[in-house]
Amino acid sequence: MWLRRIGTRGAGAGSRLFATYAAASMVSVAVLGAVLIQGYRDDAAGRGRDQGLAQAAVIEEMAVAPALDGADLAAGLTTTQRDRLQRATDLAIFRGSVIRMRLRSFTGQVVFADDGSTAGGISVAAPAFKAATAGSADVAVVPDTERDTEVIRVLRPVRAGASGQAIGVLEVYLPYDTIAIHLQEQMRVAYLRLGAGLLGLYVMLALISWSTTRSLRRHAARHAHEAMHDALTGLPNRAAFRARAESVLESAVRGGSRGAVVLVDLNRFKEVNDTLGHHAGDELLQIISTRLAGTARPEDTVARLGGDEFGLILPGLDAADVLRQLEGVRAAVTEELTLDHVPLSIEASFGVALYPEHGDAVEELLQNADAAMYQGKRGAHDVVLYSGQSTVHPTQWLVVQAELRHALERDELVLLYQPKIRMSDGAVYGLEALVRWQHPQRGLLPPPAFLPAAEQSGLIEPLTAWVLRRALADQAEWTTIGHPWSVSVNVSARNLEATGFPRFVADVLAETGTPPERLTLEVTETAMAGDRDTAIAAVRELAGYGIQVAVDDFGIGYTSLSQLRGLSVAEIKIDRTFVAGMPHDHQDRAIVRSVIELGHGLGARVTAEGVETPRVRRWLAEAGCDDAQGFLFSKPVAWPHVLDRYTAEDIERRRRAAGASAAAEPAQPDETTDHDVPVPQAG
Ligand code: C2E
Ligand code: MG
Ligand code: MG
Repeated sequence: MWLRRIGTRGAGAGSRLFATYAAASMVSVAVLGAVLIQGYRDDAAGRGRDQGLAQAAVIEEMAVAPALDGADLAAGLTTTQRDRLQRATDLAIFRGSVIRMRLRSFTGQVVFADDGSTAGGISVAAPAFKAATAGSADVAVVPDTERDTEVIRVLRPVRAGASGQAIGVLEVYLPYDTIAIHLQEQMRVAYLRLGAGLLGLYVMLALISWSTTRSLRRHAARHAHEAMHDALTGLPNRAAFRARAESVLESAVRGGSRGAVVLVDLNRFKEVNDTLGHHAGDELLQIISTRLAGTARPEDTVARLGGDEFGLILPGLDAADVLRQLEGVRAAVTEELTLDHVPLSIEASFGVALYPEHGDAVEELLQNADAAMYQGKRGAHDVVLYSGQSTVHPTQWLVVQAELRHALERDELVLLYQPKIRMSDGAVYGLEALVRWQHPQRGLLPPPAFLPAAEQSGLIEPLTAWVLRRALADQAEWTTIGHPWSVSVNVSARNLEATGFPRFVADVLAETGTPPERLTLEVTETAMAGDRDTAIAAVRELAGYGIQVAVDDFGIGYTSLSQLRGLSVAEIKIDRTFVAGMPHDHQDRAIVRSVIELGHGLGARVTAEGVETPRVRRWLAEAGCDDAQGFLFSKPVAWPHVLDRYTAEDIERRRRAAGASAAAEPAQPDETTDHDVPVPQAG
C-alpha cells in the first residue's frame, strides 16, 4: 500500500514533467513560427520592391531614354521630346501600369510630369532623391493619400544619349495593389505550409517528450521499486522495512495501538548453501519468502533484511495474538520442502519485540527483537519474546565474554538449587542446579544475561564443567548429611555438539566417585532438534554410561515423538508455559495430560516446571504427574536453604543415620516429610 503510493507520486511527477515539456516546445514552436513569418513578410515586401525597381528600369530604358537625346534635363525638353514622352506615359497610365511619372533635373525642377504639372514630387533634400542624383535607384512603398492606397515609389537616374550619362532623375509611382494581392496569395500558401510544418513539428516534439517522460517514469518507478525491494525474493528490503516500521509506529503512538516487530532467522542456512550450493540456498530463500508472505495478513509487512534474516511487522495484535500468529508462521516455515531432490525441514528462530512495551522506536525494537532472537538461537525456544534487561544484546557479548572468562577464574559463578518435589508424598526428590553470576558491579545475574554469550564463544564448555563439578561437590555434602537427592545439571546444545562431552561427564563422575544414576543432565528439547544426529548420539552415549537424561522445556520445541522412542530418556519436564496456562486454558491441560501419558509410555518420569499455585499442583497430581518444581515449593536457593523445610531434629536424625550407613548401598530420596505448604524462600 505505502509502496504503491510512492509509485503514484512518481506518475504525478511524470505528467507534470510532460506538461512542462509540451508547454516548452509549444513556446519554441510559436517563436520559430513568428520568426519565420516575419522573414516571409520581409521577403515578400522585398520581392514587391524588386518588382517595382524592375518595372521602373523598363520604363526608363524603353519609354523615357529613347525620347531624350542626352542633354542635361536642366535645359528643359523640346516639344518633340515632350510629345513622345506624353504618348508613352499616356499609354502606360491608361493601362494602369504607371500612376504618376515625373522627370526632374538634378536640382529638383520638374521638366516633365504625366499630368502636365511643373511642381510637386519628392523634396530634393530627401535621401531617396539624393541617392538617385548620386546614380543609384531608390524604391519604397508609400501611402497615396489621394487614392487612399499604397504605391511603389521609385527614384532612379535617367541615362540617355550615346554617352549613357545620367541627365536627371526619374520619379515614378507604380500601383502596389496587384503586387500586394499577388504577394498576399503567396503568403497565404506559405502560411498554410508553415502552419502545417510547425504543427507537425510540435506534434513530433510532444510525442518525443511523451515517450521520454514515459520511459523516465518507468525508469524511476523501477528504480524506486529496486531501492525498496530485495531482488531475489521480491520482498521489501531493509530500507523499506524501516520506513514501514516508522510509519506503523508513528500511527501506533498516535492511536495508542499495539503490535510487534519480529526478526526471523533461518537456522543452518549456511549448511544448505555449503552442501547443496548457492542456487539451492537462493531457492530456499524464495520458498521461505513465499511462505512468510502467505501467512501475513493484509496489514502485515514481510521483508527480507539480508542473508537468511527476515523481518515482520504485525500491527494491531497483543502478545497472545502475536504468538498465536507466529505459531502459524513457524509451522509454514518448517514444513518439509525438497531442494535438489533432498527433503529438508528448515528451522527458524523468531525474536519478538512488542510495541509499546519493548520500545516505540524502530531501532530499539529491532535491537530487542534481535536480542530475543539470539536467545532463541541458543537452543531453548524458537519463538522468543523479548524479556527485558536480563537479555544481553549480542553487541555486548564481547564485553560479557571477556568478563566471564575472568569470572570463571575468580570463581564468581554461584549455583542455586531448586528442589523437585515428588507429587505422591511431597518429599524432595532431587535438586536442579541453576547457575548465577555474582558480577562485581552488576550484582547477581540470571542465566539469560550471560549464557548466550558463553554459548556463542565456546566458554560454555568450561562453564558447564564448573557447574558439573560444583553440583557434584554440593551433592556430596547433602548426601553426607543424609539427603540422598539426585542433582540435575542443565547442558546446552553446544555441549552436546562438542566431541567427547559424554566421556568427559563420565570421567568427572568417576573422579568424584558419584554413581552415574545420581546425576541427571537436562537437555532442552530444541537442543536435540539442532544438530540432531550429533545431539542424539551424545544423549545415547550419556545414557549408555548410566547417566539420567531429562528432556527440558518439553512441548515448545516440537520434537518428533519418534525421536524420543530410540532414546532412553529418564525424565520429561513439561515446559512451564503449559503449566502456567492450565488453570484457564483447556488446551494447555490437554497438552499436559498427553505429555504425562507420553512420558509414562516411554518409561520416563514426568516433571512439571513452574508450579506456582496449589490448584495447579492438585490438578497435576490428579493427572498423574510424577514430580513438580516451582515457586510454590521453593525458588532457586543456595542448597543449605533447602534444609529450611526440615526440623532441626529431623536433620540431626538424618545426619546420624547417614554417618552410620556411610558407604552402604545408595540411599533413596526423602521418604519422610510431606510439606504441602510453600516453604520459606531465600535467594
Ligand atoms: P530451566 O532449566 O527450564 O530452569 C527453570 C527456570 O524456571 C529457572 O530459571 C527457574 O528459576 C525458573 N522457575 C522455576 N520455577 C518457577 C516458577 O514457579 N515460576 C516461574 N516463573 N519460573 C520458575 P533460571 O534459573 O533463570 O534459568 C533459566 C534457564 O537457564 C534454565 O531453564 C536453563 O535452561 C538455563 N540454565 C540455568 N542454569 C544453567 C546451567 O548451569 N547451564 C546451562 N546450560 N543452562 C542453564
Ligand atoms: Mg532445567
Ligand atoms: Mg525448563
